[in-house]
Amino acid sequence: MDAARAALQPDDRDPYRAPRRVMIDRDLRGRGITNERILSAMAGLPRHLFVPDRVRAYAYEDRPLPIGAGQTISQPYIVALMSELLELKPADKVLEIGTGSGYQTAVLARLAAAVYSIEILAPLSERARSTLDQLDFKNIELKVGDGFYGWEERGPFDAILVTAAAPRIPEPLWRQLREGGRLVMPLGAQGTAQRLIRARKADGQPVIEDLSGVLFVPLRGAVEKPAR
Ligand code: SAH
Repeated sequence: MDAARAALQPDDRDPYRAPRRVMIDRDLRGRGITNERILSAMAGLPRHLFVPDRVRAYAYEDRPLPIGAGQTISQPYIVALMSELLELKPADKVLEIGTGSGYQTAVLARLAAAVYSIEILAPLSERARSTLDQLDFKNIELKVGDGFYGWEERGPFDAILVTAAAPRIPEPLWRQLREGGRLVMPLGAQGTAQRLIRARKADGQPVIEDLSGVLFVPLRGAVEKPAR
């Protein structure tokens, strides 16, 4: 049996079983996450395999952790909240910008039919790929590139999640969102307060909900150039 599977065995040999339970009950349920599909997806995922060895002991605490290259894995509550906001149905096709550790990607893959995820830093994408392969995910496709442009050939998408902050919704992403689709992202220029928003496409137009204050790493690449 490999490490990934052993890590989720329902017996006393899994040292992460108790902390994972606490994460689900106190940090997610206790803070208002009610969607059972999300709670069970996260209860069944070994988050400790997505973080570097030196921070593994903190894998189930409700805080972001460094994953290398100056990037972070989002805290479990934010992962659950963003997943909930996407209102995923089992047949949905999802685009994620900012693969990072691949943890959020894995949660989405348990909730939807197919997940496409783009990461700008190749080493992070490669590490995420090996973790996700180890866990036997078959409905995830990863690519390295600037997520600003989305993934035209795989669209349109029922839901789009951007896990890095930008001053505005990248236009190509908006185009690749299906009518009725949901886009969730942290909005805010660098150095300013960020707001987590959900934009729903209704008759081609964004209906925007402003949800809460958040703190994400900035989206790099084309979005940093001034708007035309
Ligand atoms: N969902 C990830 C969060 C990673 S942090 C996780 O839970 O682990 C945001 C990620 O977005 C970083 O890995 C960063 O490298 C990546 N990123 C930043 N700008 C990007 C861009 N333009 N396109 C794709 N990924 C980008």
